[in-house]
Amino acid sequence: MNTEDFRPEKKATVFYPPQRVLMGPGPSDTHARVLNAMARPTLGHLDPVFTEMMEEIKGLMRYAFQTKNRMTFPVSGPGSVGMEMCFVNMIEPGDKVIVCRNGVFGGRMIENVERHGGVAVVVDDKWGEPVDPQKVEDALKKNPDAKIVAFVHAETSTGAQSDAKTLCEIARKYNCLTIVDTVTSLGGTPILVDEWGIDAIYSGSQKCLSCPPGLSPVSFSDRVTELVKNRKTKVHSWFMDISLLLNYWGSSARTYHHTAPTNALYGLHESLLMIYEEGLEHSWARHRYNYEALKAGFATLGMNYVVKEEHRLPQLNSVFVPAGVDEKEVRRRLLDEYNLEIGAGLGDFAGKVWRFGLMGTSCRVENVIFCLNALETILSDMGAKVERGTAAAAAHKSYAAKPMF
Ligand SMILES: *Cc1c(COP(=O)(O)O)cnc(C)c1O
Repeated sequence: MNTEDFRPEKKATVFYPPQRVLMGPGPSDTHARVLNAMARPTLGHLDPVFTEMMEEIKGLMRYAFQTKNRMTFPVSGPGSVGMEMCFVNMIEPGDKVIVCRNGVFGGRMIENVERHGGVAVVVDDKWGEPVDPQKVEDALKKNPDAKIVAFVHAETSTGAQSDAKTLCEIARKYNCLTIVDTVTSLGGTPILVDEWGIDAIYSGSQKCLSCPPGLSPVSFSDRVTELVKNRKTKVHSWFMDISLLLNYWGSSARTYHHTAPTNALYGLHESLLMIYEEGLEHSWARHRYNYEALKAGFATLGMNYVVKEEHRLPQLNSVFVPAGVDEKEVRRRLLDEYNLEIGAGLGDFAGKVWRFGLMGTSCRVENVIFCLNALETILSDMGAKVERGTAAAAAHKSYAAKPMF
């Protein structure tokens, strides 16, 4: 054997990532406290010191989700795994699911339903608009055998927020359980799991929780536990079967299921602790406060929002690219010259829209001012009609008019 044959072609060196400012649709910046927490010594996933911290994570997650659900824990995997976990546990072959689609992620829910043998009844709404509760009710009337209603609370591809409380009320009126995607909303805008009667909810660590990607907080009501217990068929995934996972994440007699990503969980613990210390209401208000200022700055740059004011997510700002501007070049320059990442448009919005995230730690005054100044400079440089010095000034005015701190 010649080990030389297997050397990388290029000399491998230590990887030092540049320090960016992440203001796209996620990941957002990881808070220094979270990075520090993750650098602490690795523990075994069954070490009593570690399992004690797992209980704290569950408690802090119940606070973040505003729920008393016993089945509240982080899944070892990104938001997409949290999504899949809900569908794979709750759907049996032939089950009918009402799926709302008003952007990319609703489309993924349909994929999930179909891949797990369910029948998706799709309720479509235009990109940039919230899910229309009337259409959902109409679909439920037409499909009395539907078992589940699934929708995205915060559609990250468009920046629209749907009325989760009303949608859950309607679902329950027709005896359906709900699956709600709150990957982008958790920590950024209100989510009241128990008050709204959400049955299955999932989120992601990398959006408004100031954590790196890779973990998905989930919570299930007792109605879901019952449903899973009474399944006729085995859950079609061993890894994601919640009844097996509970042997590890449940509160007693923990046994090995999979090796939990211990250090990543220290990070999640820290980020949930930060939200707890800040207070949920304060975190929601902070997202709104910075959104108002960013919006004021965008107005001076002639950048219009995709979503109507009343349905906008403060943490995900979708704006149309001004006419005649090379949108890709602007993003390239923001990254190369300012280390600032923003998001491009997805799907129907590709090439037409930019997405500015104000999530978690990235949602701060200095980022808003920095981003507006950088944009203004680049746009003006590229010949767009903008008046220098106006964008950040408008943001400052907004901050002064509605002080938060
Ligand atoms: C980001 C996102 C996801 C997917 O999360 P990953 O961590 O990328 O797997 C799902 N739904 C919504 C609404 C999202 O914004």
